[in-house]
Amino acid sequence: MEESAIWWVRRDLRLADNPALQEALASGLPVRAVFLWAPEEEGEAAPGAAARWWLHHSLAALARELRRRGGELECFDLSAKGVGCAEALRAIAEESRAGVVTACRRVEPSSVAIEERVQEALRKEGVRVVWTVGGGLIPHDGVRQASGGVFQRFTPFWRSALSKGWVQEAVEARWLRSAPFSIPAPLPLKTVRVKRGDREVAIGPVSLEELGLLPKGRWAEGWLDRWQPGEEGGVRRWHRFLTEGVRRYHQDRDRLDREGTSRLSPHLHFGEVAAARLVADLVEAGLWGEEKRDEGGRAFVRALGWREFAYGLLRHVPRMVSEPLREEFRNFPWLEGRADWIRAWQRGETGIPLVDAAMRGLWQTGWMPNRARMVVASFLTKNLGVDWRVGAAWFWETLVDADLANNAFGWQWAAGCGGDGAPYFRVFNPVLQGRTFDPEGAFVRAFVPELRALPREVIHDPERIGPLVRREVGYREPVVEVATSRAAALARWKRFREQIRGTK
Ligand SMILES: Cc1cc2nc3c(=O)[nH]c(=O)nc-3n(C[C@H](O)[C@H](O)[C@H](O)COP(=O)(O)OP(=O)(O)OC[C@H]3O[C@@H](n4cnc5c(N)ncnc54)[C@H](O)[C@@H]3O)c2cc1C
Repeated sequence: MEESAIWWVRRDLRLADNPALQEALASGLPVRAVFLWAPEEEGEAAPGAAARWWLHHSLAALARELRRRGGELECFDLSAKGVGCAEALRAIAEESRAGVVTACRRVEPSSVAIEERVQEALRKEGVRVVWTVGGGLIPHDGVRQASGGVFQRFTPFWRSALSKGWVQEAVEARWLRSAPFSIPAPLPLKTVRVKRGDREVAIGPVSLEELGLLPKGRWAEGWLDRWQPGEEGGVRRWHRFLTEGVRRYHQDRDRLDREGTSRLSPHLHFGEVAAARLVADLVEAGLWGEEKRDEGGRAFVRALGWREFAYGLLRHVPRMVSEPLREEFRNFPWLEGRADWIRAWQRGETGIPLVDAAMRGLWQTGWMPNRARMVVASFLTKNLGVDWRVGAAWFWETLVDADLANNAFGWQWAAGCGGDGAPYFRVFNPVLQGRTFDPEGAFVRAFVPELRALPREVIHDPERIGPLVRREVGYREPVVEVATSRAAALARWKRFREQIRGTK
């Protein structure tokens, strides 16, 4: 006889608006909420150090919320055990006498492969698997070109998504309901034994601390003053942005000296808030919809659309994680062997004020505004000529919102090798970007204390700061000169283009 249902908690760390949880509750049976930590099996999608910090606190918040409603979160550590999610879920389902496992789908190649193995293993045991959407706006194979192909460019993708009514449909989804009142749980499991050939492996459950997600040392100290991982923190941040920020979003989103964007990216990444809920709230507030369209609301929903676009691309072009979307870039001559430049970029010691502020800010806060991401990515790949994968790997370790689809897409966009991106010859000028988007120099002052006393006219420009002042305040020489390195990047691009043309 079936005694429970299993909600396999993935990147949907919330109770409200959660289709997978609702499916489990619909069984009428006690719901076992199960989180599996399986970094080896997740491979390139396994969270980096900063995202693991977030995950730890988000799981803690989810566990608290579940307990308040009579439920329980059970974590299983599969790392270094040689046990996959499929085998673990099969054993947990057997031990729990569960007839159904519910889970949301993901888009990373390793996650998709895991889903296939889980489906197969549970089917063999006669356990039903219910796959649901994660909370986004568009089903990942929803929007296709007339030819059936995947859109490589955002604007036609978004136009098609809107005209086909996908976003509207997401907003009207029946799973957009309030949080469940109670979540009855079965008795917690003690030890689950998984058969591996002729031996058995015990897999927990374990405490959150035992998963070892928190970084060692003092790196993330103070992040909890800045962030509140978990559903409550996400909803709080959203409500503040909905009332105070969204109307100005189209004007302020690029300003580095203002909190012009929602800063919801880590909450969205971990599924602590559903994108569809955000749009539903905008509709209710009269800020998005067919008739009354606010410019800020429209720009914000469009930003959410970029995320959907990147997710759809990754689902259908999995190689984009490590290979350029534009095939001709496969043999692009990235400069090798400048470990000192890479280190200077990572540490925010390039001598270019805006780049250094953004990179030091990333280290200090685990986050960076989109405009700054574009500038530092352009600087690394174009002025310094470093392969975009080096930058993507650093972001992966240091961003609390590190997201395989958005990160690979963002880096390819900035490096010029993505399907829809800043062309290679568009090199962001960090001095002009600083003057435009941080006109008073407040962003630089916040993260580069050496430059705190410099006036706004000078603060972004290494040439105007000059060697004397640099020596006086203890700020380093620029690793490259902005104009010369830009010219070198363009020359590299020109040679490469001629070479491609010659071989065609
Ligand atoms: C080089 C580079 C790397 C990036 N890496 C990541 C990453 O690892 N994780 C990540 O979530 N975003 C990434 N982005 C996209 C973007 O910078 C962040 O989503 C955004 O800065 C998050 O801030 P916010 O929540 O205040 O965004 P808002 O402007 O408030 O937008 C709301 C949400 O829309 C989505 N969104 C907005 N802009 C984009 C975009 N250009 N691409 C995809 N989604 C978008 C995000 O989920 C964001 O939280 C990257 C961009 C670049 C250029």
